[in-house]
Amino acid sequence: MKEITSAEFDKEVIQSGKVVLDFYSSECPPCEALAPKFEGLANLYGKDIKFVKMFRQQNKELAEKLGVKSSPTLLFFDNGNQLSNTLSGGIKRSDIIYILDNMLTTERAKEIKSHIKPTVSEFDVLILGAGPGGLTAGLYLCQSKINTVLIDIALPGGQVSTTHEVSNYPGFINPQPGYMLSHNMSEQTKLCGSVYKVAVDVTKVDLDKKEVIIDEFETIKAKRIIIATGTSPNLMGVPGEKELKGKGISYCATCDAKYYGDKEVVIIGGGNSAVEEADFISKFASKITMVHQFDAFTANKQAQEKLFANSKISTLFEHEPRSFVREGEKIITEVENLKTKERTKLVSDGVFVFIGMKPNISMFKDKLQLDKWGYIKTDEDMHTSMSEIYAVGDVISKKYRQITTAVADGTIAAIAIAKKLD
Ligand SMILES: Cc1cc2nc3c(=O)[nH]c(=O)nc-3n(C[C@H](O)[C@H](O)[C@H](O)COP(=O)(O)OP(=O)(O)OC[C@H]3O[C@@H](n4cnc5c(N)ncnc54)[C@H](O)[C@@H]3O)c2cc1C
Repeated sequence: MKEITSAEFDKEVIQSGKVVLDFYSSECPPCEALAPKFEGLANLYGKDIKFVKMFRQQNKELAEKLGVKSSPTLLFFDNGNQLSNTLSGGIKRSDIIYILDNMLTTERAKEIKSHIKPTVSEFDVLILGAGPGGLTAGLYLCQSKINTVLIDIALPGGQVSTTHEVSNYPGFINPQPGYMLSHNMSEQTKLCGSVYKVAVDVTKVDLDKKEVIIDEFETIKAKRIIIATGTSPNLMGVPGEKELKGKGISYCATCDAKYYGDKEVVIIGGGNSAVEEADFISKFASKITMVHQFDAFTANKQAQEKLFANSKISTLFEHEPRSFVREGEKIITEVENLKTKERTKLVSDGVFVFIGMKPNISMFKDKLQLDKWGYIKTDEDMHTSMSEIYAVGDVISKKYRQITTAVADGTIAAIAIAKKLD
């Protein structure tokens, strides 16, 4: 694959038919995650589509002109025209294939795909999920010289990457931006030598055979598997929620609060996440209404005191949302007073929902013993009900779900496995 500069852009891209251009940077973990996928697809599609890459830092002016704001960014060109599809961040192989296929005829795309050769690799331990639990297990296993692979559907870091500030992870005097903490955890584990397969599609998880298929063609076998897939936000199941998810209703303050500068926001929830994230959102929004089903918040006292002192935030206790409707630029949240059953409408620019989490177990839930809330049961070594299958972090049955407890679980599973493999 050819590396080009701005000076060669006209010749190598604009005058070259079908082209995909990768703007990459140095010291960029998502760029490292993309590189083998890009290389593999260049070999597959190379006869029909030209694959080139450009070092963004040294070609800044052109990158800006083409609308590139982060690394890596993939731009697609057809006969000198830049296509509207652009990919950036944790880019999945399937997302690139989707665009490449659309640049070709259906028959040709199908023919190219028929050349994909399935691959099989083997490891001592396969870790599914690279959040704090999985990364810590990976670190300990790697330091014990155990051949380990980490697989994640997203970039490494887990939920910490989307937490704006972490003030309770020991070892740091000042609060740490979540993305920095997760970046450091990930780099530490990677530097040790663990193999990463991230931003992939997990096609199949077979716990009996102890193998995972990713991106439909790559089978990864292991002697032991650690499940560290964490949790995802609960949805409310209220009319309008599904339709407005990502279009006015958000589940991530770090990702979306910045879009609500000087705007009015409704927050649903009253636990630690809701109360702490409300404080963060108030740095942007002009007015926040918190809607909570109980007559008091369940968040810790310190967080509550901060919230009550914040003049931008008002509260509606003993209320629950009943529907969401978009009216022009506004979201109308209909809430019900749980005591009087009276319904009122709250007009805002956006809604944030923080009403707890559910375990990410859909790919293997029938195989494992779960508690009544659907979390995986483990013993004190983090071993599950299935032989040689371990689970750690937020996905397991336990009382307290924090970074420190996920990290502790990962440590225990890794040491237990290392002792057995010894
Ligand atoms: C808004 C918010 C704020 C928080 N603030 C704090 C705080 O200040 N302090 C604190 O200690 N804790 C905090 N927490 C809790 C903390 O983030 C979690 O306890 C911790 O991240 C759990 O780590 P984990 O590794 O178990 O799971 P996660 O961090 O959830 O990581 C799971 C990983 O698995 C991946 N995954 C999911 N499904 C699959 C699959 N099928 N195949 C492969 N990979 C998969 C995900 O992409 C993810 O990377 C917060 C949580 C939230 C939501």
